[in-house]
Amino acid sequence: MDDELRELYQEVILDHGKNPRNFRAPEDANYESLGHNPLCGDRIKVFAKVNADGLIEDAAFDGRGCAISVASASMMTDIVKGKTVDQVDRLFATFHDMCTLEDPEISDEFSDDIDKLKVLSGVRQFPMRVKCATLAWHTINAAVHGEEITSTE
Ligand code: ZN
Repeated sequence: MDDELRELYQEVILDHGKNPRNFRAPEDANYESLGHNPLCGDRIKVFAKVNADGLIEDAAFDGRGCAISVASASMMTDIVKGKTVDQVDRLFATFHDMCTLEDPEISDEFSDDIDKLKVLSGVRQFPMRVKCATLAWHTINAAVHGEEITSTE
């Protein structure tokens, strides 16, 4: 493992990378999207079950990727559950800033979640890795703002 990775692979990332939460393909998901990061080869599919009030009742993912992309997807699916699509939009914007800006402006709306996500924002120093950390967020964003999947039954 090179120094760049060693620095990034903190314990939390390793844990989520090895034992990803919500690693499944729920049959009752009504939104899904496929995310691909060609820079690294990460390829994950994100599933969401969103109710009529715009509340995300369930989120999950499958696919494969590097430890950072899998850990990020694992954390993301945990964090978005119980939030509305609007809240997730704002949280994604904040997380994206944390991964890309030197001195991001962070509202305290989601301080608990932001604390958890800080472990991933170290990618800011490694531009090639930013896409790994944000892939799951881009993908759920595309999913919940895409077309709803209607049952064929
Ligand atoms: Zn990656």
